Amino acid sequence: VFVCFEGGEGSGKSTQSRRLAEWLTGEGYVALLTFEPGDTGVGKELRRIVLSPETGELSDRTEALLYAADKAEHVDTVVQPALDRGEVVITDRYVDSMLAYQGAGRALDVGEVEEVARWATGDLRPHLTVVLDLEPSDGLGRFDERDRIEGESLDFHQRVRAGFLRMADADPDHYLVLDARDDVDSIEAAIRAAVAPLLAQ
Ligand code: C5P
Repeated sequence: VFVCFEGGEGSGKSTQSRRLAEWLTGEGYVALLTFEPGDTGVGKELRRIVLSPETGELSDRTEALLYAADKAEHVDTVVQPALDRGEVVITDRYVDSMLAYQGAGRALDVGEVEEVARWATGDLRPHLTVVLDLEPSDGLGRFDERDRIEGESLDFHQRVRAGFLRMADADPDHYLVLDARDDVDSIEAAIRAAVAPLLAQ
């Protein structure tokens, strides 16, 4: 079973993905909690390149290809092997982040970005994507990591948010959209309720 968390800055993805993994472990499942970008050896380097202020402005296509490389390495060396071992894989960000940030956010064609992302991941798709939806001005206030993204406009983050919501709208069977302003425990409960039936399959 493969579950992804998506959403903007400060939407609580890391808290909720960790809670889900802890719950699954407590229930006796082997859960692998991972994230993008950066949860492999080369991924760490790619994350540093793409997010460090020293890099300066990257061309949009360069940025997209670096994220795609991170995904390829992540799927081939972490995600797919764990799925093959029968584990539950939970990732904080996946393909939809690329479609939302590099596609909807930047001036790249979303269809083309999707082709690159699908190729990079061998078209491995999650059983469920949880979108923690948040108005960007709420999320950015909670976001204190100093990286490149702070330079992006509110407008950029609004396009990113709209991108996530469009993907969820187009495929409701594979998405759970939750209001990230709700309290942490009720969000957690809603996520468990959506994941439980997948485990029974
Ligand atoms: O989720 P996390 O905070 O680790 O993401 C790091 C940064 O990378 C975020 O600020 C996010 O906006 C950015 N990002 C991006 N494009 C992606 C994935 C992440 O711009 N495809």
